[in-house]
Amino acid sequence: MASDLSQFKIGFIGAGNMSYGILKGILKLGDIYAANVTVSAPSANNFPRFQEMGVHVVHSNNEAVLGSQLVFLAVKPHLIRAVVAEVSPHLTEQHTVVSVAAGVTLNTLEQLLPAGVAVVRVMPNLPCMLQEGALLFSRGTCAKQETGNLLKHLLSACGSVEEGPESWIDIHTGLSGSGVAFVYLFAEAMAEGAVKMGMPSVLAQRIAAQTILGAGYMLRDSGKPPAVLRGEVCTPGGTTIYGLHALEKGGVRSAAMSAVEAATDRARELG
Ligand code: NAD
Repeated sequence: MASDLSQFKIGFIGAGNMSYGILKGILKLGDIYAANVTVSAPSANNFPRFQEMGVHVVHSNNEAVLGSQLVFLAVKPHLIRAVVAEVSPHLTEQHTVVSVAAGVTLNTLEQLLPAGVAVVRVMPNLPCMLQEGALLFSRGTCAKQETGNLLKHLLSACGSVEEGPESWIDIHTGLSGSGVAFVYLFAEAMAEGAVKMGMPSVLAQRIAAQTILGAGYMLRDSGKPPAVLRGEVCTPGGTTIYGLHALEKGGVRSAAMSAVEAATDRARELG
């Protein structure tokens, strides 16, 4: 794959957090050259961190598109229409456009773009910034399987990458985009429990963070379902089953399900 991509050119429209996180991951893979990447934005505020990576930074969106085979649309959703209108004259069937804009559907993108341009919609989450994201993408009607494979390869450096139908994008937003905040709430509450029992707050937060990190790695890497791992921590009559009983009495399982449901519903409303 590495040698195949040595001439591959990528454009990023928007020089914000998402472009930065995704690009950092892609360059880490090592098979895309920084010199083959162009990032565009009207303001130069964010340019220094992109320049540090060795990519081109420009003010013209058309410059980011010209010569690029893959073009990421990474501006705020309300700007998509204007940006697509601006670059459309330069887009052909040779381009694949990848949108990360929340709530902008494949259908909308396909209607805005010239016929035949391949479109992919990706939903990342914030830990993409640290290459520990959870990403789900859906291909539009003109995007081939091989385009999906290439994207999966490139984005794999940003975290886990799944492909699915577009109807899953909003669920992914509820589970993973918003889910990050649900985990922060859980971390905060666990740390407060430790503070209540007499531990200093800063230390409790550090330990809560590491507990979530360790549990996350075990969950991801063991291949075991969460219920199995949870059972393995429960000594009969021990501390964990007492704690879990308290969580169940508090309705935490139902609350977590409702949180994903509410966030998904809201993503659907906004879409
Ligand atoms: P951001 O505000 O950090 O970056 C937006 C960038 O777009 C800025 O560099 C800005 O200068 C640039 N910009 C503004 N107008 C432009 C124009 N006309 N042409 C070119 N560039 C222009 O935003 P972000 O957090 O990187 O989000 C980008 C997209 O990613 C959004 O559509 C958002 O829905 C999506 N997204 C973000 C997250 C997240 O966690 N941040 C998660 C999922 C999806």
